[in-house]
Amino acid sequence: MTLGSVGYQMSISGQIHPTGVVQGLRTFEGEGFAVRRPFPTNQLDHLGPFLLLDEMGPSENAPGEAKGAPDHPHRGFETVTYVLDGEMEHKDSVGNKGLIRPGEVQWMTAGSGIVHSELPSAPILANGGRTHGFQLWINLPQKAKMHRPRYQDLTADLLPKVDLDGGRAVIIAGKAFGTRGPADTFLPINYVHVTLQPGASTTLEMDPGDVGFVYSFVGELALGSERHPLMEGEMAVFGEGGGSVPLEGGESGVDFLFGSAQQLNEPVVRYGPFVMNTREEIITAFEDYQAGRLGSIEPEHT
Ligand code: MN
Repeated sequence: MTLGSVGYQMSISGQIHPTGVVQGLRTFEGEGFAVRRPFPTNQLDHLGPFLLLDEMGPSENAPGEAKGAPDHPHRGFETVTYVLDGEMEHKDSVGNKGLIRPGEVQWMTAGSGIVHSELPSAPILANGGRTHGFQLWINLPQKAKMHRPRYQDLTADLLPKVDLDGGRAVIIAGKAFGTRGPADTFLPINYVHVTLQPGASTTLEMDPGDVGFVYSFVGELALGSERHPLMEGEMAVFGEGGGSVPLEGGESGVDFLFGSAQQLNEPVVRYGPFVMNTREEIITAFEDYQAGRLGSIEPEHT
């Protein structure tokens, strides 16, 4: 794995260590909402099947101010939206419509292609309020890239909460802390939100050969027995390895996302909202979208 300019690498048997730390880049998406993006950047294009992580907000919106992403296409991968604050309204070209509320995850398999919109809900738009959430893009294996689009609406009651010593974990996909999450995935993916009280510590486990990330979005933590600092907005990247990662929350506590997965040894050709295996497939995706073959969102009937 090539990680560009990322930093330290160490090895002590029985423990894995970050192959680098990348900075979340502040940028804008959709109609102009602020995101902090650990990848893709010049430092890191993708990590195994993980293609993109955007932290949306947190932002405090005045009435009329909240922004989203109007109609746009996707093909070849999955988008996983996790809302912490605010509400996102989702509509698509297959006729689906729904809200993603705080504590909920929408796991969308774009597969062969959809057109969708991801917008603040009408009450958030009218009244303003805080919005905060994440979108993780997960690649599909070549054989599933043209799978029919599908959704998993993982409401808060479906997401297991594990009590940790001085903290809590929400298990979204795969297995962590002895608990399995509800998402049905095409590849073995582990995806977890961990909250630690000030000074609390825990240990993350990675399967042999997994790549992984820890993205701290509130507060800072100390990683590994060497206590490498990971500041808020930074992401630690773990190269192929496996084993355990001890970590300790900083003085103000910490919230972080942990993802891990096996490498996906297939070519990645990406252009904007399309991620395929060859350049020709990207051109076909554009042609299909422009010809309306990914559909469009029906106007509301009133
Ligand atoms: Mn989208």
